[in-house]
Amino acid sequence: MIPFNKPYLSGNELDYIKQSIDSGCISGNGEFTRKCHWFFKERYGFDKCLLTTSCTDALEMASILLDVKDGDEIIMPSFTFVSTANPFVLRGAKIVFADSSALHPNIDVEKIEGLITSKTKAIVPVHYAGIACMMDKIMAIADQYNLFVVEDAAQSIASYYNDRPIGSIGHLAAFSFHETKNIVCGEGGMLVINDDCFIKRAEIIWEKGTNRAEFYRGEVDKYGWKDIGSSFLPSDIVAAYLFAQLENIETIQSKRKSIWRQYHDGLKELEDDEFIKLPYIPEYATNNAHLFYILCRNQSIRNELLSFLKNNHINAVFHYLPLHRSDFYSGIHGDRQLPWCDYYSECLIRLPIYCELSEKNIEKIIGCIYEYFRRRP
Ligand SMILES: *Cc1c(COP(=O)(O)O)cnc(C)c1O
Repeated sequence: MIPFNKPYLSGNELDYIKQSIDSGCISGNGEFTRKCHWFFKERYGFDKCLLTTSCTDALEMASILLDVKDGDEIIMPSFTFVSTANPFVLRGAKIVFADSSALHPNIDVEKIEGLITSKTKAIVPVHYAGIACMMDKIMAIADQYNLFVVEDAAQSIASYYNDRPIGSIGHLAAFSFHETKNIVCGEGGMLVINDDCFIKRAEIIWEKGTNRAEFYRGEVDKYGWKDIGSSFLPSDIVAAYLFAQLENIETIQSKRKSIWRQYHDGLKELEDDEFIKLPYIPEYATNNAHLFYILCRNQSIRNELLSFLKNNHINAVFHYLPLHRSDFYSGIHGDRQLPWCDYYSECLIRLPIYCELSEKNIEKIIGCIYEYFRRRP
């Protein structure tokens, strides 16, 4: 079976984990955590970032920082993972789901303004597949209506909106280092703070509601309880693993991009013959090769192709089940239709993509997709 995903070991993970253990300091906010923060600052200009135990947790920190409370409304796409929504629901917010664009699965920016009410607090764009949302437009709407923007950048490391790194544009942004993402540490994430007014409180929320981060820097001589918070920081052992990955980000990205390119070029003919659609990348967005998807003409073809691939020992997958139709939220959402979200949910297939996927196997996957469409009447 060709797996859908396989976490890549870039080489120094075990060495760095050993270093961390040997140092005797393996709790959070240690040496490797600082190295990761420094890396992001140097490379992407993220002035303030905080590693977290997951992207879900980074979004939960964002929700606390924005003082999200009962009755607030948060606008986000329905075509996303539950973790985009849950952190806001946990604090009492109502999620107002927006449709995707006809061209790509990202939020349709033209649909946002019509969803804004006096209760709207924030917009949470999701950069699906690491392809940027139209951020200028989203930030302009946020300015006009006095809203916050939290980028769900879970899939978006090393990707750009025009010349600006994804994650540097919204007031806050959240990344994921879950084993299915480009850069991984098992479970992990990061909050990026682009509006200085949140920095001090973010550190406190991160460290269980205490000002321990200030204490560690020697800025105060004792630390204590300052605010609500939780244990959002990962162990330095996890940060050690992550740092080894970050040091190899160029290699990882170039391997993924080359696989993406091979799929794209290999499947182009099927797009020209209108059997499938390939990913659309707007001119303002770069491609970080987080995932490669194809769009089938309808759900039954999609499901048949998925089984055909499975029978040929290829594990391709679909997603997402739209959040506005979920058991948990459909009752609250009501029957407002989101047809493009449904379309992506019904017609999209993600193909295996990971650093060690061999050319031979990529050829096999492409060949299999051709075989399926050629055999169809
Ligand atoms: C992976 C993912 C998350 C969750 O990330 P975790 O690190 O697993 O919490 C959230 N949003 C999107 C869009 C994702 O792809």
